[in-house]
Amino acid sequence: MNQTERVKQMLRTRRAVCATSFLAVNMPAARNRVGDLRRKDWVIDSKHRCQDANHEHDTYQIEYRLISEPGAGQQSMAMG
Ligand SMILES: [Zn+2]
Repeated sequence: MNQTERVKQMLRTRRAVCATSFLAVNMPAARNRVGDLRRKDWVIDSKHRCQDANHEHDTYQIEYRLISEPGAGQQSMAMG
């Protein structure tokens, strides 16, 4: 699985993925992959700060949330 596929999988299977989670699986460039996906019409939210109590971030960490992906048509995913 290449990095882009890995990023897709993480976004699909988790409520939110922060930079630390990408680093934990050796993907420091995940942010760039998110940019690639956005150019391919993936809608990925990065407006929220990571709230994962287990992470204990010292600094502000953006978390990424998959809103919709191409092929999902007009159907919008329910947002928790
Ligand atoms: Zn985090």
